[in-house]
This record gives sequence, structure tokens and C-alpha cells, in this order.
Amino acid sequence: MKIGFIGLGHMGNPMARNLAKHGHALKVYDVVPELARKLAEQGCEVATSAVDCARGVEMVVTMLPSSPHVRSVYLGEYGVLAAIAPGTPIVDCSTIDPLTAREVAMDAKAKGCPMIDAPVSGGVAGAEAATLTFMVGGDVPDFERSKAVLQCMGKNVVHCGGSGNGQVAKICNNMMLAIEMIATAEGMTLAAQLGMDPKVFASIVNTSSGRCWSSDTYNPFPGVLENVPASRDYAGGFGADLMLKDLTLVTDAAKSARQPVLLGALAQQIYQKHSVDGHGGKDFSSVILQYMKA
Ligand code: NAD
Repeated sequence: MKIGFIGLGHMGNPMARNLAKHGHALKVYDVVPELARKLAEQGCEVATSAVDCARGVEMVVTMLPSSPHVRSVYLGEYGVLAAIAPGTPIVDCSTIDPLTAREVAMDAKAKGCPMIDAPVSGGVAGAEAATLTFMVGGDVPDFERSKAVLQCMGKNVVHCGGSGNGQVAKICNNMMLAIEMIATAEGMTLAAQLGMDPKVFASIVNTSSGRCWSSDTYNPFPGVLENVPASRDYAGGFGADLMLKDLTLVTDAAKSARQPVLLGALAQQIYQKHSVDGHGGKDFSSVILQYMKA
């Protein structure tokens, strides 16, 4: 297939490379020309704009930072929808708010182009190893049509329901993860402060009812687990600012649905403070630093 790929950052670059590895012909575009040049060295055609990237391709895939970027790439005089041939399937893998995903998909449909939202989990490592999980919102036939392409970049491709539901799954999952990470940070630091060995405490939690992914697989307390960001000064992993972005999306979505998210809103504020304190570039488990005494 000839695929137009727009947004070649931390995630988009390895995802595009994996599509090329599977024999797809890629036409790529990013506002940062250097990022497209890297892929040109691997045989990809470089487009001069988003509009140009959508011309003469059989599918468009985007991996952009957030909702305003998705709007600007698709809509308006110089957007993808101005140039794309009717019938061309569109896959947006960016994490954005569900309402924007639904609006852009409706505009695409009006142009005769089926669009699915397919945000991912798995991070940069998952993008590189082609082991991402795709959470897909859209009509079933459009999901089925795009599945083989998504499988070149990930190992789990899950249909979540109608348009926007991929985003719903992504942001609600990450809200639960943030709350669970903060709870683990709070419990671990209190136990240590009250005199327990953090490793012993974690082993008890992990065979008791306090166990969760943040306690047994990604523990935020330094030295409890090897090979996690907590044991390398919170370098790498999933950035605290990306978690803050997802928490802001989820609290905004909750506002529009008039649904209380008491702990989600508190988690958003905790990550906002963490970012203001200068930790936004560290892994999100570094939120435990909010509880550690200097
Ligand atoms: P990134 O900032 O590294 O990459 C985004 C790219 O989009 C950049 O290269 C940027 O230049 C480009 N871009 C911005 N506006 C553009 C435009 N108008 N036209 C063309 N290109 C444009 O971000 P990322 O880490 O690759 O994340 C992409 C998306 O994936 C985000 O929505 C993020 O929330 C989500 N995500 C990221 C991770 C992660 O670990 N990095 C994990 C899961 C999901």
C-alpha cells in the first residue's frame, strides 16, 4: 500500500519505519524537515506539506502531539481533507480529546473518507519493537480495513466502539494509572517514613490487596525493582508531562460529560504541580518526589 504518514516524532518515526519494513511505500511529512530526511535515507518519499502528503496515497496515518495539531493538519484550506481522494481511509494515532476525534471523523466522512481514531499505549519502546496496543474507535468495516496496517506497528489492535471511543479507552485507562501511581507513591513513602524497609513492604503489598501494576511492575520507590525508571533517576519511560496532558484531556472530557472524576482531577493537579516543579521531563513514576523529604 502507498501510505501518507504525517508526524514523525518520538512515536511516528519508528512507527513509519515499521510500516516500511513490512513493504509499504511511504510518503512522509513533518513540520521539522530533518525528521522526514531521516526516513528519506530509508527510501521513503518526502512530501512538501500535509496536503501534498495526502495526494496520491491509499491511506493517511497521523501521529501528532495534540488536538489543535490534528485540527490544523486535517481541516481548513491547506488541510489533508482538502486534497485527499474520496474513499481514502484515514487513521489518526495521536492522543487527543474524544470530541475533536469525533468532529474530525465526521468532516472526513463528509468528504467520503472513513476515519478511525487509533491512539496507542506502549510508548517509544513499543513503537520501536512494533508491540504497541491500538485502541480503535470507528465503524467495524473501517476498523477491519485498517487492521493489517496497524498490525505492522503493534501486536494488539482492539475495537473499542464508535468514533472517539479509542480516545475514551486511552484517557480513562491513563487516569486510572495516574491515580494508582500516586496511591502507590503515597503508601510506599509513608511505610518507609514509619520505619519499614521499602522492599519488604512492596513484597507484602504485591501479595496483598494493595497490589497493582504500579506496585509490582513499575514501583516508584528507588531500589525496589531493577530496570524501572525509579532505579535510574526516573530517566526514560513515560514522561510526567505526557501523563499531565492525558489527565487534562480526561478531566476536560469529564467536564463536558458532567461526570465527576474527583481523584482524576486531583491527580491532574498533582501532575501539574510536579511539572511546575521542573519534573515534567522525567518518567511519570517520579511523582513520588512530591512525597519525599529533601
Ligand atoms: P512528538 O512531539 O515527538 O511528535 C509529534 C510530531 O508531530 C513532531 O515531530 C512534530 O514536529 C510533528 N508535528 C506537529 N505539528 C505538525 C503539523 N502541523 N504537520 C506535521 N507535523 C507536525 O510526540 P510523540 O511522543 O511522538 O507523541 C505523539 C502522540 O502520541 C501524542 O499525542 C502523544 O500523547 C501520544 N503518545 C506518546 C507516547 C510516548 O511515550 N511518547 C506514548 C503513547 C502515546
